[in-house]
Amino acid sequence: MKCNFIDGQWRESTASRSNINPSDLDEIVGEYAQADADDVRAAIAAALAARAGWAHGGIQARSNALDFVGSELLARQIELGTLLSREEGKTLAEGIAEVARAGQIFKFFAGEVLRTAGDKLPSVRPFVEVEVTREPIGVVGIITPWNFPIAIPAWKIAPALAYGNCVVFKPADLVPASAWALAEIISRSGIPPGVFNLVMGRGSVVGHAIVSSPDVHAISFTGSVETGHALLQRGAQQLKRMQLEMGGKNPLVVLDDADLDVAIDCAVQGAYFSTGQRCTASSRFIVQKGIYPRFVARLTEALEHLRVGHALDPRTQIGPVVDESQLRDDEGYLAIGKSEGAKLACGGQRAVRDTRGHFLSPALFVDATPKMRIAREEIFGPIACAMAVDNYEEALAVANDSPFGLSSGICTTSLKYATHFKRHVRSGMTMVNVPTAGVDYHVPFGGTKASSYGPREQGTYAVDFFTTVKTAYTKAYFD
Ligand code: ADP
Repeated sequence: MKCNFIDGQWRESTASRSNINPSDLDEIVGEYAQADADDVRAAIAAALAARAGWAHGGIQARSNALDFVGSELLARQIELGTLLSREEGKTLAEGIAEVARAGQIFKFFAGEVLRTAGDKLPSVRPFVEVEVTREPIGVVGIITPWNFPIAIPAWKIAPALAYGNCVVFKPADLVPASAWALAEIISRSGIPPGVFNLVMGRGSVVGHAIVSSPDVHAISFTGSVETGHALLQRGAQQLKRMQLEMGGKNPLVVLDDADLDVAIDCAVQGAYFSTGQRCTASSRFIVQKGIYPRFVARLTEALEHLRVGHALDPRTQIGPVVDESQLRDDEGYLAIGKSEGAKLACGGQRAVRDTRGHFLSPALFVDATPKMRIAREEIFGPIACAMAVDNYEEALAVANDSPFGLSSGICTTSLKYATHFKRHVRSGMTMVNVPTAGVDYHVPFGGTKASSYGPREQGTYAVDFFTTVKTAYTKAYFD
């Protein structure tokens, strides 16, 4: 049984859980420990005790540890990408790319450690100087979802450690293998006991215990809107610093002047790759009426040729849905879309393959309207809807008519419309002629409206969440 990692030791827990391959329900990827509230308390106590040593232990040690983790992830990307694809179901190419990305993130923050700058400026009072420095927050609770089992943990853990914080990490229950592999590498990186702790298990037990503890000073969470709201309320009672990344309902606008090949590529990649299980996935195609019939015809044809299957089959382009519960949710939305009057142009069928898996063919609804539930609610599966609009102004209005604002995109050859869209679309990230999903690791990630709460993740902007600022005044006396 794969143990939890607490205070520098691998500790067995009383319970465990089987990790099932969604491409092959007869394959168990492994047995992983389930922590209880006592394990969480021990992890938090260890993190608290390690806090001062790590914060003041020198930036070279932190940089070395992060660099070690980044190098090993990059060196083992095929092995760990295979493990990731087995437990989550994204294709092998996607799994390997995700591990490589996690490695790059650790490398990036290994450098950022050495670049943590402050300010020094004169006071308005004579002979007084002011210094502004960055300090760690303390103990950070990190709670992550199943859809990026190693990249999301990496983009929270790496900056947390880089800026001198101690970590209690709880991965999603469905994907302990990638989290465990990452923790195992971190355990050998030279960090002192207690600086990094892994507690696997249920959100309602392990996650709840982390968020409820007064000794956890900040929470970085990615997951559903409902859980994010609940966490925020609990964290606010203790004045915790909170960073929440939640849902999306990302629009892809296609104007009449778009290059159709580019638009189809953006639509297929953005909406359906990773089985549509990305918070940045395009799920609303808002298409100008002149190009709409050709867009729908070409996209339908492209979707019918996508190969759905076992994540490790090199021919597979779309892996399985992550589990039975998500598959039922997806099918629920297929029924809702039909009952609302949208037309299912293709897909939405369970696919039978050599292994028992949660295979669903990529689905496209056409003739949707902005008020339909399939155009407003996050589905988190290989399902998107297309709707026709008269002109650019209407497209922008429909794009912005959403409670979410994570990512957005436009396909156009017009500099005027591209520039206007970048300025006026209400989303944290926006893309011109590139898919809404698939972002760089060295620049900020995050959204507006109901999608995000708190400072941005990733890139140099991560420092804002993972540090607090101290302003020091010094008066110099000269004889
Ligand atoms: P998803 O559907 O992406 O799994 P969730 O919001 O359900 O979204 O889960 C995201 C993360 O939050 C997971 O690690 C999950 O275990 C955790 N979680 C779920 N419920 C709670 C809770 N009540 N308190 C703390 N963490 C939770």
